[in-house]
Amino acid sequence: MMNPTLTHLELCTYCPKMCRFSCPVTLASGREALTPQAKMAGLNQIRKGNEPWTPETTEPLWACTGCRHCSNYCTHGVQPGATLFAGRAEAMRRGVGHHALARYPERFRARDERLAKRAREILPKERFAEEARVGFWPGCDAIDKGAGDVLAQLRLFDRIGAEHVRLVQAERMCGGYPLLAAGHPDVFRWHALRVAAELSRYGTVVMNCSACVYALRALYPAEGIHLPVEILHVSEYLESFVARVKPTRAENPRVYYHDPCYLARYQNTILAPRKLLARVADVREFAWSKGDTECCGGGGLLPKTMPSVADEMARRRLREVAAEGGGIVATGCATCKHMLARNAPSGVIVKDLATVIEELSRNVENSDE
Ligand code: SF4
Ligand code: SF4
Repeated sequence: MMNPTLTHLELCTYCPKMCRFSCPVTLASGREALTPQAKMAGLNQIRKGNEPWTPETTEPLWACTGCRHCSNYCTHGVQPGATLFAGRAEAMRRGVGHHALARYPERFRARDERLAKRAREILPKERFAEEARVGFWPGCDAIDKGAGDVLAQLRLFDRIGAEHVRLVQAERMCGGYPLLAAGHPDVFRWHALRVAAELSRYGTVVMNCSACVYALRALYPAEGIHLPVEILHVSEYLESFVARVKPTRAENPRVYYHDPCYLARYQNTILAPRKLLARVADVREFAWSKGDTECCGGGGLLPKTMPSVADEMARRRLREVAAEGGGIVATGCATCKHMLARNAPSGVIVKDLATVIEELSRNVENSDE
């Protein structure tokens, strides 16, 4: 492990758990062994040789979504998420990975191939292009969970005058963030090189997965992978068309916006989704929002390593909306949408951001006819 990582481990080991309240994994699991401090101190003990590398001692490494909420409250600037992910890579190298992630690279590759085939089957053939000025790459979870949101996003592009946007025609559907979360940095690099070659046929690539937007913008360059392409989240691309999103005239429905951690906290993409949503909705905020957002449970492969904790994180997130009488929750990430939707309590409806905008602006246009 590298020196900054060692410094972070030492700082956490002697810290009185100053960020404890901010870790959604700690709160959802109720386990003191899963506070950021305990996870980091445990890894430090293993690193120093005071504990062996075993599946049992390394289990807390897999209890993190990488959401960085703890880092917001750390006066030392420590990043437990990145450090624990580095610990995962070391655990994998020593053959003590998480049992739920056995043979993960092979499974990842098989899923990516399956989703590339599925995308060609369920999305309109005429929208694909091998090269284009603007390519839309919806993200693996968007394809996996059905064509509905992708079709709504395409309709929205058409309606605002961006009908030139083409679907990216690629053999790969995922930017590779899950490979890093699974402790496979070498496979991530291999995958990223191939993604970069495929995407370089487009001038701009528009994406709807918060973690992979971050991966392409920050992690690819960190690996020395040059991607000569503008990478935008779908809200950032749509922002320049905001005036073309027809505002509603009737009373706007109440819509809460859930900020994906990898978008709001990592990349400060906060205003664009709200600006767009405000054209058609009365935008409501969660108590934890913007750069201080709380994770939905979908990051860091937590749904695979601790599925019940991940689901409880999503339920915790939506509880305040239910307490306020329910309503619509919109989010700008296919993974967050899936996690929240499958855990939504009665009266809370979770939707993709662009889908909500498309549906509400369509209702206005229809009422004009
Ligand atoms: S991340 Fe910072 S605040 Fe949290 S345990 Fe480590 S040193 Fe303490
Ligand atoms: S990055 Fe998020 S999940 Fe991981 S320890 Fe920090 S607050 Fe908890």
